[in-house]
Amino acid sequence: MYYRRYGRTNLTISVLTFGAMRIPFDESACSAQERAAKEANAVATIRRAAELGINHIDTARGYGNSERLVGLGLNEVGREKFYITTKIGAPAPRDEALRFIDEALKKLGVDYIDILDVHGINTREKFDAALGKNGCLKAIQAAMDAGTVRHAAFSTHGEPSLIQETINTGLFSAVSLHHFITHRRNARTVALAREKDVGVLVLSPTEKPGMLAQPTARLVDVCAPVAPLVLSHRWLLTQPGITTLAIGAADPSQFDAHLPALDGPPELTKEERDAVSRWEQAERKALGDTRCTVCYKCMPCPEDVAIPEILRLRNLGIAFDMTAFGKMRYNLLESGGDWFPGKKADKCTRCGACLPRCPEDLAIPDLLEETHELLLGEKRSRLWG
Ligand code: SF4
Ligand code: SF4
Repeated sequence: MYYRRYGRTNLTISVLTFGAMRIPFDESACSAQERAAKEANAVATIRRAAELGINHIDTARGYGNSERLVGLGLNEVGREKFYITTKIGAPAPRDEALRFIDEALKKLGVDYIDILDVHGINTREKFDAALGKNGCLKAIQAAMDAGTVRHAAFSTHGEPSLIQETINTGLFSAVSLHHFITHRRNARTVALAREKDVGVLVLSPTEKPGMLAQPTARLVDVCAPVAPLVLSHRWLLTQPGITTLAIGAADPSQFDAHLPALDGPPELTKEERDAVSRWEQAERKALGDTRCTVCYKCMPCPEDVAIPEILRLRNLGIAFDMTAFGKMRYNLLESGGDWFPGKKADKCTRCGACLPRCPEDLAIPDLLEETHELLLGEKRSRLWG
C-alpha cells in the first residue's frame, strides 16, 4: 500500500479506501444466525482492509446499517488503524444534522469522526440547503468546534460547474466525485481541487466505468496484457490530484483484484499507455461517426432526456459488448433522482433542439431510439438510500 496527503485534511491516507457501502444488510429480514454471519463478514472485511494497509473507511448514514457495522469492525480491529469518513445528507437542516452526527458517533463507537462529508451536493437546491444559514454545514462546523468532527468534505454526482463552485467556497478539505478513463468530464474539476489543496476520492472506480471486476472478453482482449481494472486504477492513480479510490468490497476476498494496481512506477508504463490508447482507439473504431464524446454540449434537453449518459452506455455496449452493464445503468434512470438524473430515451419528442448543439453532428433522436431498444429492461433501484 502507499499513501498520500488528503488535501487540506492533512491526513495521510491509503490510495485505496474501503468503501463500506456493500457490507450493509436488512437486519429485519435476517434470522439471528444470518445476522451474526453478516456482522462477522463485515468485521472480517475491515480486518482484511487493515491487513492490506488501508487506513481510510468511507461510510454514510445513507448506507443502511453500514455505520454500525464499521463500528463493530473498529471495536475488533482498532480505532487507531483507520481514518473514518461518514456522511450526512445535504438537505438535512442544522439541528437534524447535529442529531445525525451524535448518532454516527454512537454507531461508530468513536469519540470523534475524522471527516464529515456533506452527502450529495448534486444540485443547486442541495448546495443552497447545505451551505445556507440553517444548513448541515453549520452543524458540521459546530461539531468541529466541539472536537467531535475534524474535517469537512463533500460528495457529489453534480455538474462540474457546481462541483467547482463548491470547491471554490473554500469550506471543504476533500471531495468525492466520479472520474474515469472513459469519462473525463471532471478533469478540470480534479485540477481545480489540486490547485485549492482539496483531496479527491474517486467514487465507484470499479463499477461505474463498466463493472471492471467482471470485464467483458472484448475489453480484456483490447487491454491485454493489462487487466482492465488494473489499467483503470493505474490511470487514475497516476493522474495529478487524485488521492484515493473507493473500493466497495462486500467481503474480504474482494480487495484482491485491486491489489496489482498498487504496483508500478509513479507514471504509466509504456505497456499501460499503449493499452489506454488501444482502449480509446477500439471505441473510436467500433463506433465510427456515431460515437458520442459525452461532451454534454447537447444539454439541456426540454424533456430532460439523459442524452450523454444514454449514448455513453451505447458506446460501451457497441464497442465493448457491455450491454449487460448498459442495461443495469439504463434501467436506473427515472428512479435515481438527482443521484442519476434524467429520463430514458423514449421521452424524446424529436423536437430537434439538441441537434445543432452536437459538435459530432450525431442523429441524436435515432441513436436514442436504437439505444432504448438495446437497453430497456426491468426498472431498478439504486444500491442504497
Ligand atoms: S430531440 Fe429529443 S433528445 Fe433532443 S432535445 Fe428534443 S426531446 Fe431532447
Ligand atoms: S453533444 Fe453530441 S457528442 Fe456531445 S454528449 Fe451530446 S450527443 Fe454526445
